[in-house]
Amino acid sequence: MIESTPRLASTEEVVDELRRRDAFVMVSHVKPDGDTLGAGLALGLALKRLGKRVAYFQQDSVPRNLRFLPDADLVSRELPTDLPPDTLFVFCDMSDWRRAGEHLPPVQRENMLDIDHHLGNSLFGKLNFVLEHECSTGSVVMHLLRGLGVRVDSELATCILATIMTDTGGFMHSNTTPDALELAAELMRRGADKERITEEIFLRKRVVATKLLGRIIEAMRFEHDGRYCYSHVDDDMLAQTGADGEDTEDVVNTLLGQDGVDVAALFKAIEGEIRVSLRSNGSINVQAAAQSLGGGGHFRASGLTYHGTLPDAFGAVEAALVAEGL
Ligand code: 5GP
Ligand code: MN
Repeated sequence: MIESTPRLASTEEVVDELRRRDAFVMVSHVKPDGDTLGAGLALGLALKRLGKRVAYFQQDSVPRNLRFLPDADLVSRELPTDLPPDTLFVFCDMSDWRRAGEHLPPVQRENMLDIDHHLGNSLFGKLNFVLEHECSTGSVVMHLLRGLGVRVDSELATCILATIMTDTGGFMHSNTTPDALELAAELMRRGADKERITEEIFLRKRVVATKLLGRIIEAMRFEHDGRYCYSHVDDDMLAQTGADGEDTEDVVNTLLGQDGVDVAALFKAIEGEIRVSLRSNGSINVQAAAQSLGGGGHFRASGLTYHGTLPDAFGAVEAALVAEGL
């Protein structure tokens, strides 16, 4: 029976549910990152080792820098046509199921498992396994792997370590807790390929991405005594440099890193959509600012989609940040 008031599920409840079901679809969010993908791949690998059937749904293609992850080639935007009716859809790293994208066919709540670490998760699943103090959704999944008694081998360890390194920004963000570092150490002992993760996710950049970075830096603007830095990227800038949307991924962190900046925004006006990435050094809650405009995320890292013109987006986001104390 479904509870009328959603609440958080225990590890045991989720493990029981995973054992009861035979077929699974691991669901990642749109504009996937190493956490949503790595968490789903890790749990999927574990379930397959228990003899379960596992498929992977992701509306957008796997980013170039994540294709090295085990089983990443199995991820698809199409669902198998012969899934049993009680297939469990496992949503990883999203505060709301709508973040999976409009291409995902309707799924009954009864068949939704929500695994996440975001503030303000809407508890949309039959079971909601949300641990806000965990640094990544992959480290939330780690509780389930232990509960399932699955041996964490080098493939599983690489997937989980990729989630931790993604969401801690390579052990730099404030969610790099002693627990996160201890788990990372354990995963390395189990054979996680840290060098490969560092190389693929953090170090290697396409030349066109660096050229685009230059354009975005030229377009930087500073407001509020230099505490707010923002810039934008549009289709013309992509066409002129030969870069694409994926090449903009961590540029917002460069904006936040400028001397004196407390909060940064990158506006991505690409293919008729305006996506906004917000980052804060901890003095301003960008999760609240994003949520007030229909988005979400974390205290120091959030995002949203703005419906309107770019100048309107600049104004609306600045107003939302001012409301949070900018
Ligand atoms: P990014 O700027 O890297 O796209 O996103 C930063 C953080 O905000 C991530 O944790 C991401 O899941 C969250 N986020 C980004 N866009 C959205 C959005 O449109 N809605 C919600 N709820 N969260 C978002
Ligand atoms: Mn995450």
